[in-house]
Amino acid sequence: CQKCLSIIKKTKFLNAYITVSEEVALKQAEESEKRYKKGHSLGDLDGIPIAVKDNFSTSGIETTCASNMLRGYVPPYNATVVQKLLDQGALLMGKTNLDEFAMGSGSTDGVFGPVKNPWSYSKQYREKRKQKSHCENEDSNWLITGGSSGGSAAAVSAFTCFAALGSDTGGSTRNPAAHCGLVGLKPSYGLVSRHGLIPLVNSMDVPGILTRCVDDAAIVLGVLAGHDPKDSTTIQDPVKPFVLPSLTDVSKLCIGIPKEYLTPELSSEVRSLWSKAANLFESEGAKVIEVSLPHTSYSIVCYHVLCTSEVASNMARFDGLEYGHRCDIDVSTEAMYAATRREGFNDVVRGRILSGNFFLLKENYENYFVKAQKVRRLIANDFVTVFNSGVDVLLTPTTLSEAVPYTEFIKEDNRTRSAQDDIFTQAANMAGLPAVSVPMALSNQGLPIGLQFIGRAFCDQELLTIAKWFE
Ligand code: GLN
Repeated sequence: CQKCLSIIKKTKFLNAYITVSEEVALKQAEESEKRYKKGHSLGDLDGIPIAVKDNFSTSGIETTCASNMLRGYVPPYNATVVQKLLDQGALLMGKTNLDEFAMGSGSTDGVFGPVKNPWSYSKQYREKRKQKSHCENEDSNWLITGGSSGGSAAAVSAFTCFAALGSDTGGSTRNPAAHCGLVGLKPSYGLVSRHGLIPLVNSMDVPGILTRCVDDAAIVLGVLAGHDPKDSTTIQDPVKPFVLPSLTDVSKLCIGIPKEYLTPELSSEVRSLWSKAANLFESEGAKVIEVSLPHTSYSIVCYHVLCTSEVASNMARFDGLEYGHRCDIDVSTEAMYAATRREGFNDVVRGRILSGNFFLLKENYENYFVKAQKVRRLIANDFVTVFNSGVDVLLTPTTLSEAVPYTEFIKEDNRTRSAQDDIFTQAANMAGLPAVSVPMALSNQGLPIGLQFIGRAFCDQELLTIAKWFE
């Protein structure tokens, strides 16, 4: 715990943490040590340092969603997943940085500033950069972590903790995992409780897990999974522990390669690693086949309509009365609401609220919201058809390329590209399927590239078993 705390201090410049809960962690470590010395039974995560994204409620610890709206908000309760970690003896190191309310793919849009990717400072990458240009100011070349759980990814990648919670609505756990060389798991929708996770898109949000290896992700999933009376969308059936075999025979597997995922924007390096991975399975005797997910091209637009509509309704709760920020204005209640929301939300959040309210207008509802719901069903059905045809798991890229420098990412015309970047991850959220990003190799620049496996609903154990074989 002390070692991790000292790394947190040394790596403060990464901006991975919004709050470091040093006292809490040290106290928990002391208690864990006592349990150990007295020979008491230990929890599955006893004494293990873990960080939590700052959109999960933590009792007595500020929870901001990286927004002015919730600055200073101290929840009176723990999210179910946080409580489960603590019940198993985990040490809470702190709350990690994100895009405001988890809206984004870069971890560049939070009120506490962008998160820097620890790989920007790796020897190999720095040397490659120098080879390219001698006069560039190195510090301005730092890379984004991806997002929106970039703080959690940086925290694990920089060795400040062993695992971190992210959230995943359209790829926010898998995307930064790929950019930071980590395993990023989005469990099946309904396997893990969302109670206490401040919602983005309730019908797609899932708590995510970031770790350095697949086994660690399985251990954390084992702790988190299961029914929660406080989240009616969680499964009722009892969940078995996630134990992964050390030897797996992949020769009986059928791996699907969705042909629509071969987009023109995909970098040639990711593309060649993707086919290398497919060849690897084939050489072990697995059947690798091309499959079709014909509605993929509608995925981003469909996500956008549904996401903003749910955002518009979710964000209504932030009115300056119950939590967080309240603008000091006494003209009228209406004026207070408006000023509070203007000051409290950034332009990304305000933009989504506006779009969502537009899609939900009486005259637009059928044409946009209802139509998007129908398209979502078609997207989900594409997966059902593929899995019913005998495919066990889909193998896809996680992101279009390796992590890009911040200066490149924030260029205006790149906003569209960053929305495009979710192309491989969003559909799994719309279909509620489990998906995991696993590090595959380093790029020519020395940066990590991850590949994604998507599995059948509630076959998280099978998915992780394949991911473990692959890693
Ligand atoms: N990038 C997507 C968005 O901005 C997904 C975010 C997420 O998964 N939280 O909505």
